Amino acid sequence: MPRIFSGIQPSGELHIGNYLGAVKNWVALQHEMESFFCVVDYHAITQPYEPADLRRRTVEMGISLLAAGLDPNVATVFVQSRVAEHTELQWVFNAITPIGELERQTQYKDKSARLESVPAGLLNYPVLQAADILLYKADTVPVGEDQVQHLELSREIARRWNARFKEGFFPEPQPRLTPTRRIMGLDGNAKMSKSLNNTIGLLEPPADIWDKLRPAATDPARVRRTDPGNPDICNIYHLHKAFSPPTTVEHVAVQCRSAGWGCVDCKKVLFDSMEQELAPIRARATELQARPQMVKETFEAGADKARSVARETMTAVRTAMGLE
Ligand code: SF4
Repeated sequence: MPRIFSGIQPSGELHIGNYLGAVKNWVALQHEMESFFCVVDYHAITQPYEPADLRRRTVEMGISLLAAGLDPNVATVFVQSRVAEHTELQWVFNAITPIGELERQTQYKDKSARLESVPAGLLNYPVLQAADILLYKADTVPVGEDQVQHLELSREIARRWNARFKEGFFPEPQPRLTPTRRIMGLDGNAKMSKSLNNTIGLLEPPADIWDKLRPAATDPARVRRTDPGNPDICNIYHLHKAFSPPTTVEHVAVQCRSAGWGCVDCKKVLFDSMEQELAPIRARATELQARPQMVKETFEAGADKARSVARETMTAVRTAMGLE
């Protein structure tokens, strides 16, 4: 059975951008493949943070993931720092990865350019990503387009380790591009992101969602209600594609191009579609919020399962490398 690994930062409650861009896809894939889904808190500490805040955000992310539909009876859901083998394998990979390859990574160049003092963890971030994936010998990694370069580095690391120590040991993980295109923020200017304050939270109450949706950016050429619009450049239309049934999506495009309705009418229909999907998720989250211990126990059981696979991999790695 193919095996997938994917990780998500402990950023607290999911927003609909990372739900549509990643987690919704995981919920479907968990039934097709043996799945490892990880809250990557070791990655998160490469940015400034408060320990109590990280702890809270990790639990909140767990609630969001389980409420969104990850099933711990089917998939292995856990927190990265609870499986020490992630950093152990990273050290092994650090030893065979040229610094030049890490310095060429686009995300490193972008992030480090904004910092006065660059932590080594930021440079080595993709090596830890390679360890995350290869520790479970995952052959498939669901990614957005912005992660393809990091995955190529993981493949290169797998090839290099295999050539040096044990041919064919690590698979070269293949990207599986997430079907939903990048979700833009409500301002329509940039990717949906908490730091840009342009998100809708997955668990937000309906009234708050409508308050955000109502003034959200649309096709800027639709100044008056009678101006025809172009749905292809409108973020609301792309949200329809994610939440509304195909017949509604078709109707939206026709109504928009013919100025058959106004943008507020269009957003009301979107709001109804979103409620169909989000109301049950909110209900599950409310149950989990009342029992945070259950989330912690789910994470612990997931870490136990992950650790048993990770230990097997590390035993073979150490043996091949003459480390014991
Ligand atoms: S009618 Fe809908 S799709 Fe068209 S511009 Fe307005 S919000 Fe966007």
